[in-house]
Amino acid sequence: MAYYTDDFIEEVISQNDIVEVVSEYVPLTKRGRNFMGLCPFHKEKSPSFCVSMDKQIFKCFGCSKSGNVIKFIREIENMEFLEALEFLADKAHIDKSRYVVKSFSKETAKENHNSNLRDTILKINKDTAMYYHNNLIYAIKEKNELVIEYLNKRKLDIKAITKFGLRVCKRKSITL
Ligand SMILES: [Zn+2]
Repeated sequence: MAYYTDDFIEEVISQNDIVEVVSEYVPLTKRGRNFMGLCPFHKEKSPSFCVSMDKQIFKCFGCSKSGNVIKFIREIENMEFLEALEFLADKAHIDKSRYVVKSFSKETAKENHNSNLRDTILKINKDTAMYYHNNLIYAIKEKNELVIEYLNKRKLDIKAITKFGLRVCKRKSITL
């Protein structure tokens, strides 16, 4: 399955005049700024199917079907959106390859890259946390006055140190 850039849809719509496209299926008569015809989607004797050249849409006042040129092709040719899009692109001789998203694999690669980057950052964070944590434990063991004073000042007792992961816990989950 091909993936297309967003401007592909715009290009397909702008290169396929809805009046011309509909005319190939439904005989249309000009009525003011619009074109009228017998609706191809429901049985009728007097035309209630309207195509607006200005708005590039169709609307049936009988069965309420409406939409743009892509919707019209989907309905009349019984196609999926992408099929109708490609159908109209071919019809207007649009070079589809210009709009194919070739970066699909690139995106996957980017995702992998981001995932690797995330893992690396997590590891650095963990290692850094471990480093400072070990320093802290070492300082406490050494009864480093500055550290003890700081911990007392911050009212950090051994309970808090454990709770906030300032101390290695058994599960080795560092939350520092
Ligand atoms: Zn209709």
